[in-house]
Amino acid sequence: MNALQESLPVGERAASSPRTAPGQSGPPDCQNGATRYVGRFAPSPTGPLHDGSLVAALASCLDARAHSGRWLLRIEDLDRPRMAAGALETILEQLHALGFEPDGPLVHQSERDALYRDAFEQLRRDGHLYPCTCTRKEIADSLSRLGVVRERNRDLVYPGTCRNRPQRSDPEGVVARAWRVRVDQVEISWHDREHGAIHEALATQVGDFVLLRADKLWAYQLAVVVDDALQQVTDVVRGADLLGSTARQIYLQQLLGYPRPRYLHLPLVLDSQGEKLSKQTGAKAIAVKTPVRALNRAMEHLGLEALDTESLREFWDEAPKRWSASHWMR
Ligand SMILES: [Zn+2]
Repeated sequence: MNALQESLPVGERAASSPRTAPGQSGPPDCQNGATRYVGRFAPSPTGPLHDGSLVAALASCLDARAHSGRWLLRIEDLDRPRMAAGALETILEQLHALGFEPDGPLVHQSERDALYRDAFEQLRRDGHLYPCTCTRKEIADSLSRLGVVRERNRDLVYPGTCRNRPQRSDPEGVVARAWRVRVDQVEISWHDREHGAIHEALATQVGDFVLLRADKLWAYQLAVVVDDALQQVTDVVRGADLLGSTARQIYLQQLLGYPRPRYLHLPLVLDSQGEKLSKQTGAKAIAVKTPVRALNRAMEHLGLEALDTESLREFWDEAPKRWSASHWMR
């Protein structure tokens, strides 16, 4: 059990007396089995927060507040080569200055290796994984032999080269570069709160995907699924750039026997070239000297009316009400 689960208010209900609490007309809600809302914001410390990441932070937090839920902060710092020095400290300072208050201890993916290893071993024992020795070039070459054209911004669909390779019999003692999860005729359907019904034929659109990378880092998809389950996240609110990851994550949840959270993918903030605002393309850091102004820009991006105040306290008192009354709570 991780620190977050330990910090949950266990026994909150069990300890309540059978008498009806003041203001409640019916019996206490202990019979309805409703899971209490848990949301999260999960930045990668590759650079400071910018207008794009602030939208995800704000929407995830407002949705949690509007559902009287908990809002957690998770640092997705597995991909060390991409981390920027000092970025984590900057993000935490920015969130604090903007008035974000997580309801639980900070979780760092870089400290959770054993948890990802457990999930990986479970999948391996169940026969869902196989080692892959292909380089990117080999994958690209065999796809081009098959006449597959790579679509812009889409990962290559793995052609299955190593799928049926007998294990432990590589004549040249080839070392596994990565471990992939088998995707047989899997079709994933889910409902997104913004995008509605989504259907993905995982085998043809993604193929067998990597869980343990050639550089020995856990793949993002595995870490996110394990963390969301262990942190008991009920609602994932994040940018639409991750819409394409959702089917893979749901598939892993199914294989691991985890519950499926609800999903809400937010419209991306684009730069003047129509590209997603990102640290990599030099998006400007949020100026924390005028926090409400930054928060109001994010409100407007979400189609919510900006608050006419300079006070952070007033902003945080009112903004969840605006979210509650908006189409986001349909
Ligand atoms: Zn391979």
